[in-house]
Amino acid sequence: MAFLDLEELTQDEKLLREEVHRFAEEVVRPASIELDRMPAKERVKPDSPFFKVMKQMKRLEYHKILIPHEKGGLQLTPRQAYIFWEELGWGSTGFATALGVDMIPFTVITYFGSKQAYEELVEPWLKRDDWIGCWGVTEPEHGSDYLIMLREEESLVEKMGRGNVVAEKDGNEWIITGHKSSWVSAAPVATHCGLHAQVKEGKTLAHGLFCVVPLNLKGVAKGEPEDMLGMRDCPQGWVSFDHVRIPEHYVVVAPGPFYGIFCDQLLCLTSVTVGAFSVGLARAAFEEALKYARERVQGGAPLIKHKNIKLKLYEMFEKVEVARAYVRKAMEYTYSRLYKGTFDASPRHARAAQIFAKKVAYEVAHDALQIFGAYGLHKEFIVQKLFRDARSLLIEDGTVEVLSLEAADDIIENYEKEYYNAESITRRFQEYVTEIEQKERR
Ligand SMILES: Cc1cc2nc3c(=O)[nH]c(=O)nc-3n(C[C@H](O)[C@H](O)[C@H](O)COP(=O)(O)OP(=O)(O)OC[C@H]3O[C@@H](n4cnc5c(N)ncnc54)[C@H](O)[C@@H]3O)c2cc1C
Repeated sequence: MAFLDLEELTQDEKLLREEVHRFAEEVVRPASIELDRMPAKERVKPDSPFFKVMKQMKRLEYHKILIPHEKGGLQLTPRQAYIFWEELGWGSTGFATALGVDMIPFTVITYFGSKQAYEELVEPWLKRDDWIGCWGVTEPEHGSDYLIMLREEESLVEKMGRGNVVAEKDGNEWIITGHKSSWVSAAPVATHCGLHAQVKEGKTLAHGLFCVVPLNLKGVAKGEPEDMLGMRDCPQGWVSFDHVRIPEHYVVVAPGPFYGIFCDQLLCLTSVTVGAFSVGLARAAFEEALKYARERVQGGAPLIKHKNIKLKLYEMFEKVEVARAYVRKAMEYTYSRLYKGTFDASPRHARAAQIFAKKVAYEVAHDALQIFGAYGLHKEFIVQKLFRDARSLLIEDGTVEVLSLEAADDIIENYEKEYYNAESITRRFQEYVTEIEQKERR
């Protein structure tokens, strides 16, 4: 469905929107509805629509949108990336999540890993359509805690307990042991995990590392897909590690001061991305409601003639527009920082984008369902799926409450600073890059 965008888009941006929208409408959305209605275990069988759509996305090279051209990618501009994520989220926030987490392990290697890791892991992933990544962060005992414990406060381990997944160095290898939560998106179907682990003797989760673990290694186990209320088109499940050995170069971000910055900035990136596909969901719900309200006659007139429905539709439109304007800005700011390698994206702005867009998605989907009346609760209409997915988004990638508390701390500490510690972060990042280069020369 076309709509007036207040931003003047270039011809390329318009074409991109059309292309991704068509794919979202004709391929992603029908498959996501089919998956939503399937029993959990059926959704991960080899002939499942999940794999068909993932393979199609890879053939269209959608997994390469953040990878620089010189590394074999498509690297969309930040504004193109926003358009991409909103349209994909319009089709399905489950598939948008699946693609997002697929990209994490390999994109992180591209930006921070060694040449060897790039050749062994990223090059095949760029070419193949059957490698799927996931992102292992949260643990059975550390859901929201994982976000909080990435601060360098040593008392946190005493207060909240040690990380469940730990990493221990053994010669040229690292040994990974422990269990990630049951909610890891795409884990039941993933071939590789971008994994956060605490160093065995680390004082907080900030004393950790980020590594990529091929999930066919000895000692890895994965759970069945969980039977969830929403986001059923992206299977969630646990992944566990029993003394899994990985070579040193699969540790992409090593323990040290840069790890905290990396986590912080990675969360900025995921925040604006979840924000963008939440706007897509909100727009989808609004458009469903508008279409239905034009057609459904009650009280002798189409619903759009009734003042309460008119006001609701206006409020829904207003929320979608404001969310798009803000999230697009926040994404442009955040993605451009990644591309420039300055690593000074602003957590409070990125979190605000995610929190605001998730709330908008939930409120708009809620109002859309109300406009549909009882039909809104019926499986025949997509609006109930959008509502359940929007409800799940309030928890995915951090609950809105905990993200808000995190953003509040950043506002209180840093509001008057024009830059987010740009100078010291850039210096620490440069030191880290030099360290990797020296290691590779040795
Ligand atoms: C659809 C979906 C996809 C997901 N995908 C992934 C994934 O790909 N990878 C991954 O690692 N994880 C994933 N998760 C897990 C997700 O990040 C966690 O569910 C989330 O961070 C919350 O953790 P929890 O569920 O353990 O809730 P808890 O942390 O137990 O929180 C329970 C409640 O307490 C509140 N609360 C908790 N701590 C505090 C605090 N300190 N102060 C105030 N309030 C607090 C929370 O706001 C919440 O309301 C996913 C979850 C969902 C729903």
